[in-house]
Amino acid sequence: MPALSDRTKDFTDSVIRRMTRISLQYNAVNLSQGFPDFDPPKAILDRLAEVSHEDYHQYSITWGAQNFREALARKQSVRMGREIDPNGEIVVTCGSTEAMMAAVMTVTNPGDKVVVFSPFYENYGADTILSGSEPIYVPLYPPEFHFDPEELEAAFRQHPKALILCNPSNPCGKVFTEQELKFIAQLAEKYDAFVITDEVYEHIVYEPNRHIYFASLPGMWERTISCSSLSKTYSITGWRLGYIIAPSFIIDTAKKVHDFLTVGAAAPLQEAAVTGLCFGEDYYKELQTKYTAKRELFLKGLDDLHIAHTVPQGAYYILLDISEFGYESDLEFCEILARDVGVGAVPGSSFFKENVNHLIRLHFAKKDETLCEALNRLEGLRKKIPYRQS
Ligand code: GLN
Repeated sequence: MPALSDRTKDFTDSVIRRMTRISLQYNAVNLSQGFPDFDPPKAILDRLAEVSHEDYHQYSITWGAQNFREALARKQSVRMGREIDPNGEIVVTCGSTEAMMAAVMTVTNPGDKVVVFSPFYENYGADTILSGSEPIYVPLYPPEFHFDPEELEAAFRQHPKALILCNPSNPCGKVFTEQELKFIAQLAEKYDAFVITDEVYEHIVYEPNRHIYFASLPGMWERTISCSSLSKTYSITGWRLGYIIAPSFIIDTAKKVHDFLTVGAAAPLQEAAVTGLCFGEDYYKELQTKYTAKRELFLKGLDDLHIAHTVPQGAYYILLDISEFGYESDLEFCEILARDVGVGAVPGSSFFKENVNHLIRLHFAKKDETLCEALNRLEGLRKKIPYRQS
C-alpha cells in the first residue's frame, strides 16, 4: 500500500478528546474535555424546537446565515468597539476549531513561522502542522504565566507571519493585561505580523480581571483575525458554531478556505442560536456570576485536599501539581486517576512544549453536584493512587 501523508505523522489524536473516551470507559466524573453538563439557556432550546418545523434544513450561505451574521455583528460591535460589517467582516465556521484552522491557512504559507505561547491549547500544534507552518514557542512563566518581553521579541526577530493568542487562556487561565497586549501589538507592528486570537472564553472572566479584545487595540484591527465561538458562552459545545471576525481583505480569503473545508455551519443551529446572540447584558453577567461561584466551590474543595493548583483569572481550567506522586508519565497518572479514583483529567504535558509532566488539568464547567461528587472522589486520591519512586 502507498504511504499515508507525512503531515499526519507529526501529531497524535487529541489527548483532551481521548481523556473523554477514557472517562466514559471507567464511568469517571469527566473533568477533562471542557464542556458543561448543565443545559443551554431555555430560550435557545425553545427556538431550536420551533426551527425544526421551519425552513432551515438546507445549506445556509457558506460564510454564515444572514440573520446569524447580523445578530453576531450587533453583539460584537458593542464589545469590540467598532462597527462590524456582517457582510464583509465575518465568516461563520464549525466551531472555533475550524475558525483557527481556517485563520492559520488564510495567513500562512508552508514554511512560515507562527509564535505560540506555551502552555497552549493542543489544537494549535495540529493547526500549524496541517498548514505547513512552523511554531516558535515562547514560554509563559507561572504563577502569573507572564512572558519575558525579551524572549517574545527574540521570537519576532525570526519574522513570524503570525502570533496565536489564546485569551483568556486555556489551560492556564491567564487573562492578558492591557500592558501585555500593547507590548504584543507593538511587536506585531514592528515586525509586520498578524495576530490570530482564540477568544472562546471572552465571557468567562473573574473579577477584577477584564477581557480586552486584541482587535480593539489602536492599530490592531487590520492585523487581527479574531476567532471565537458560541460553545462556551451559551453552553452549546456540540452545536459547533464558531466564527472569524477580521477586515474584509482577510475575510475574503478566509471565506474561500472555509467554503472548501466545510461549506458551512449547520443552518438550523445558526437560526436557533440567533436567540442567544440577541440576549441582553444580564445574560453575560449571570454567566460570570455562575462561573465565579463554581470556581470558588472547586478551588475551596481542592484547597481542602492540600494540593497545589493554579487560580484562573478567566476560562474554567485548573492545573494541579501532582509532583508528590512521582510519576514520570502524567498520561499514566490520568489513566489511573480515571480508573481508580473515578475522575477524568487531562495530562498537562499535552499543553506544554517544555518537558512538563507534573501537572494535570481539571475543569469546573459542571453542575455543583457533579463538582461535589468529583471532590468527594478526589478525597481518596492519596490512598488510591500508588506513589512512584522518581
Ligand atoms: N476547549 C475544550 C478543552 O480544552 C475542548 C474543546 C474541544 O475538545 N473541541 O477541553
